[in-house]
This record gives sequence, C-alpha cells and structure tokens, in this order.
Amino acid sequence: MTDRTEDPVALAQRLVAHDEMTHAYEAVVPGIIQTSLFTFPNFQEMADTYAGKRARNVYSRTTNPTVTEFERKMAALEGTEDAIGFPSGMAAISGAVLALVQPGDRIVCVRHVYPDAYRLFETLLKKWGVTTTYVDGADLAAVDAALPGARLLYLESPNSWMMEAHDVAALAALARKHGAISLIDNSWATPVFQRPATLGVDLVLHSASKYIGGHSDTVAGVVAGRLELTGLIRRTICPYIGAKLGPFEAWLLLRGLRTLPIRMKAHEASALTLARRLAEHPNVTKVHHPALMGALPPGLTGTSGLFSFTVDDGIDIPALCDALAFFHLGVSWGGHESLVVPALVTHVQAAGPNSALDFGVPATMIRLHVGLEGTEALWADLDQALTAAKR
Ligand SMILES: *Cc1c(COP(=O)(O)O)cnc(C)c1O
Repeated sequence: MTDRTEDPVALAQRLVAHDEMTHAYEAVVPGIIQTSLFTFPNFQEMADTYAGKRARNVYSRTTNPTVTEFERKMAALEGTEDAIGFPSGMAAISGAVLALVQPGDRIVCVRHVYPDAYRLFETLLKKWGVTTTYVDGADLAAVDAALPGARLLYLESPNSWMMEAHDVAALAALARKHGAISLIDNSWATPVFQRPATLGVDLVLHSASKYIGGHSDTVAGVVAGRLELTGLIRRTICPYIGAKLGPFEAWLLLRGLRTLPIRMKAHEASALTLARRLAEHPNVTKVHHPALMGALPPGLTGTSGLFSFTVDDGIDIPALCDALAFFHLGVSWGGHESLVVPALVTHVQAAGPNSALDFGVPATMIRLHVGLEGTEALWADLDQALTAAKR
C-alpha cells in the first residue's frame, strides 16, 4: 500500500515521465504508434519472445507503446503496480469481473451502481450462474452480513444518480476480512480526489470516457491494481475477449491527463457553487451532492462536476430541460460541456425485467454535469430555466 496522501512533486514527476520510444525526435508530445504488429529483426529474437525469454511488443491486441505509456501513467496516478487500458468503461468492468468469477459465485454489490454494470450482473452473469446481492454501501453491518461466501465486493462511490459517498476504506476492510476481492468504479472522483488502492481496494475501474479523457471525444476504460490481479486479466481477458484500447484513443487520453488536476478543480468549484444555490431555490426539494449530504468520507478529498437534484411539482421538468441553453440534453459527462439528464427519461429505459434498477431514484430527479463554461454563465442559465419552467 502506498501513502494515502500523494506527494505533489512525485505526482507531477510521474505525470511527465515518459517512454523514450514514444517520444522519438525529442518530441514533447508522445507519438501515436499506430501499428497493429511489430516485426522481429531475426529468427532468434522471435523465438526468444515466443519462449517468454524476452518481453517486447508483438501485436497491438496485447501491447502497444502508446497504450503502455497511458497505462503506466494511470498506475502511477492510482498508486497501483499496474493498469490496463480498455476500449470502454464497460469493457473494463466486465473484463475485471469475468476474470474473477466462476459459475456458482456470488457478488455483493452496492446499490445504485452504473446502470449498465447492474445490467451486466442481472443478464450475462446470471446466465452463467453468477448471482448478485445488492446492499446499502452506507450500512456496514448489512455489507458485513452479506459478504460471507461472496467472491467479489463491487463498489461505486459516490454512486450513480443518488451520489451517496461511502467509507471505502471500511468497505475494503470488510471484503478482506471475508476473503472477497474488492473492486470500485472510481470514474466520478478520479485519482485526483480519491485513490482507492491506497484505501485497501484491490481493483480500481474507470470509464476513461469521462474525466480521464475529459474532452467528450473518446470512449475508453481502465483497470488498475496489483500485478497478481491485473496479470490474470491480461492473461485471460485481453487476449481472448480481445477488448484492448487502441493507440489513437490512448494518445487522446494522455492529452486529457495533462490537464486532469486543473479540470477537476474547476469542475469542483463550479458544481459546488451551483449545488449550493440550487439548494436555496424554493422549488428544489433536495440536492444530491456528496458535499451537501454530510461530511465527505475519509479518502474522498474533493468533489467533481456531476450531481443531481429533485424538484417539487411547481416545476415542469420537460420545460426546464428545453429552456436550458448551456446544459445540453445528453448522457455521459466529464468533458467541457454542461449536460442535463432527467430521471423521467432514464426510468423508461429501466422499466421491465431490470426495473429493480429503480432503487428509489425519484422520477423528479435531474442530473447535471457542470462543465467548464464558467460558473456565473451556468448559474444564469439554470436560474432562467427554473423560472421559465414554473407551472
Ligand atoms: C459511463 C460510465 C461507465 C461506463 O463507461 P463507458 O466508457 O461508457 O463504457 C461506468 N461507470 C460509470 C460511473 C459511468 O458513468
């Protein structure tokens, strides 16, 4: 385990450290090694590589220098031995989980996880005899009671829509006590505000499509953790499922990482201001923002730009969405743009066999991603839209 508080100089050094191979010609920006395969100079080198006597790039489904550079930076940021790039956050989640479970296994999962993670557990994994028990991550006694015999403890903190932030160190300790492997979706906080491996979590997952990329131009994912676990994923999932990050996407992510700490602080400041002002609005019934729902749990050192709120029946939600100018209607988040998603539309999506997904996310809930357009411009937009939407 690494220190809980990252030395800022060490962090900066790790972020600028780079691989000579991808910085040919002393280029300050790494090159994109856009190749599917790497050739061998002679028979012996090829034979030694295949015999495992030599580690080198062979084929980009396995390793690629641009991807490796991104993976090293992610491992450094998360304080883990290794990280693996995936072509989406869902590929990272499903890859990590599939590498670790067997038929008959049980997963303990906190409620209100990312909807497609929930659907993975309820559809594909169920088909292969893996069951999932859902628990309130704030109720440590309930998690302790659910864990005996479980193979995995799946966490997401803060969780989706409800924005409940959990005591990750305490949950990881419970998993260890019961011999379960812990995983956490850290997309919301990023390693800038939460480094779960330093809190005892075994595997850290990301949708890099969000803040890591940071520009709404890439779909990607990451799994970070100890070599013992990432090695298993590299051996069993990467070659056979074939879900590997491409060099161009890795290059975009490397560019995103350069501004990650600065962007996160700007998202945090604007979102906090908007959340506090919304809490004062007469038609807003509750703001679901971790900083407005009690003290932040140990290990969560800041908050990002994604939060939600509920309104009373004095507000026409479709009219509110349509009156917004800066906040565009759209899923995903983590880029420059501010976005809005009303629970009214996602509830339609959740109906049917997966309606258990609706663990109490109210239909009056609206999720915002606070982008980088500027706090006062965004507040003026929200304020005028709330006025326009009054019944
Ligand atoms: C978007 C998201 C994912 C899935 O990531 P993709 O890159 O879209 O596959 C997983 N977890 C959270 C919290 C997300 O917001």
